[in-house]
Order: sequence, then C-alpha cells, then structure tokens
Amino acid sequence: MKHKQEINFVSIVIPVYNEEASLPELLRRTCAMAECMGKEYEIILIDDGSRDNSAELIEQASNAPDSHVVGIILNRNYGQHNAIMAGFEYVQGDLIITLDADLQNPPEEIPNLVAKAEEGYDSVGTVRFNRQDSLLRRYPSRIINNIIKHSTGVEMNDYGCMLRAYRSHVVRAMLDCQERSTFIPILANGFSRHVVEIDVKHDQRAEGQSKYGFMNLINLMFDLLTSMTTAPLRLLSIIGGIIAILGALFGFLVLVMRLFYGSDWGFKGTFPLFSILFILVGAQFVGLGVLGEYIGRIYSDVRARPRYYVQDIIIGAASKAARNTTDAKK
Ligand code: UDP
Ligand code: MG
Repeated sequence: MKHKQEINFVSIVIPVYNEEASLPELLRRTCAMAECMGKEYEIILIDDGSRDNSAELIEQASNAPDSHVVGIILNRNYGQHNAIMAGFEYVQGDLIITLDADLQNPPEEIPNLVAKAEEGYDSVGTVRFNRQDSLLRRYPSRIINNIIKHSTGVEMNDYGCMLRAYRSHVVRAMLDCQERSTFIPILANGFSRHVVEIDVKHDQRAEGQSKYGFMNLINLMFDLLTSMTTAPLRLLSIIGGIIAILGALFGFLVLVMRLFYGSDWGFKGTFPLFSILFILVGAQFVGLGVLGEYIGRIYSDVRARPRYYVQDIIIGAASKAARNTTDAKK
C-alpha cells in the first residue's frame, strides 16, 4: 500500500560539466519553477571539473543574496554519476530531483515529478516521449534499455533520462553503496518499494555538445550491467555447456554414420577429432563459468552494498520505556 506523503522540501541536484553556455538559462528557469511550487527548495550544482567558466558561474550564483543555490566544486572530472553522488552527500530535502544541466530535460517538469512522488512513490522515473537526440545516440540507448528490461524484468522504459525523483531514504541508501562505478537510476530501483514512470518532454541540447562519446557510452553500459547483475559470468557456463553437448552429439552422429555407411564417415579421424575438440572447448568454458561464479560472489562482497536498509523504526511506548531503562543501566 502506498501512503500519500506530503513533500515540504525539494532538493534539485544538477551535475555540470562545461555548461557555461546553458547555466544562466538553467538557473533562471529552475529558480522560477521552484518558486512557483510553493515549497522549500535548494538547487545543488556540482561542478564536475569543468574547464570553462562553469565553476565561477556556480560560485556567483551561490553568493548572490537570498540564493537557494549550493555550489559544490569537484577538483577534477569524475563523471556524471559520481558528480550526482557528491551532490547527494549534501541534500537536505525529503525529495531529491536529478536534472541535466543542458536543458534537454525541461525544469518545468519538476512539479509533475513532485506531485507523483507525493502519491507515495519512492522513486519516479521518466520516459522521453519525443527524444531529441541523434540516431547514433538513440539506437545504442534503445538496445541497452531493452537488454536491461529483459535481464532484470523491471519494467523501466528509459534508463538514460536523468530527470528523476527519489525520496530521501532512497538517496541515503545509495550513499551507503561504496562501489566506484554506479548507475544511479538502477541503484535507486534496488532501494525503492514503489517505482513509477511518467512521460516528460525532451528538448534539443540548447548549447554545446553531448559529453558522451561512443566509448563513454560503452563504458556506461558496462557500469550499468555490472552494477545490476553478474549474469554475463553465468553465461559462460551456459555457452560452454551448449558447445560441449553439441560436440558430444556430433561425435555420436559420426559414430552412427560410420557404423552404417562405412569408414568414409570418419574422414580418417578428422570428424571424431572435431567432436572431441568441441567437447574440450565446452568444458573449458564451463570451467571459466565456475571461476566466474566465484568472481561474481567476490565482486558482490567487495562492493559491500548494505544488506538491507531500514526506512523507519516505530517503537511502542512500553518498549521505549524498557529500552530507556536498559540504556540507562549500560
Ligand atoms: N556531465 C557531468 N560530467 C561528465 C559528463 C557529463 O557532470 O563527465 C553532466 C553534463 O554537464 C550534463 C549531464 O551530465 O548536465 C548530461 O550530460 P550530456 O547532456 O552530455 O549527456 P546526454 O544528454 O548526451 O546523455
Ligand atoms: Mg544531454
């Protein structure tokens, strides 16, 4: 059951990497929208080691009188998701919204996210129903989205869109994850009870270029995949098993043909050799897969994600009294 839960304080987290051209417009629109919402708010801007004027602009914005801006300047470029994590460390709101600095996700959509979260959702995702990126940027994303959908079974249609809202307990849980490569929307799903997606508008990038080249996208895809599942390791065993079985079947076929149709079918030992080779290669793959199983376990232990996360503790009055006395004795 979802509980309706009013939100009083909204934190907007925006990673910024070489976005001096869109920053003023971004701040103007985001502030205007936040003022209209009639809730307390803060805008956390993280400068991810920009080489242009972005850091100075952020500093100016935070130093302005009556500013709701919190500026966080990282010493070098750590990547979008790490920058957002850095911002999460400083949020105070009940609801945390992430947004891109390039104005592709219009800040005007934020009230819709807040309204949805107030219905009792822990994390609100978004789908860009009119995505405005180049084909080359869109197709890899679509493939990735499909792979994730099938491998996790979680119905999320658009992982790439970073305009998202998370309740503070989800963000606190994410902060307890110490792994180096994170993909925030997936991580958040792991800590949310009620997840929902809404449609949002998507605009052309206002200024500058996408910070993601082809290699970055591939990197991101691996971050995403490994942060979610160790299934690819298991795939090795499965492929190995299939190869070995095919090899054995082939050997059997050759044997049968040899018995019925004479020694031509042996090809002077070539076919039987092939079948033995297949079986051995398959066995090697299975061995790799077994190694992979161990590595997968090591990986998940090294990552040391919290085993569970307590959202709330409700203690009855009598228990509370008892606790106080035992505490006093200690
Ligand atoms: N970004 C960042 N660090 C990086 C790359 C990107 O903080 O190393 C920020 C960037 O300033 C923008 C957001 O992440 O606010 C999304 O980047 P971009 O628009 O280039 O990605 P795309 O829209 O192509 O996915
Ligand atoms: Mg963008």
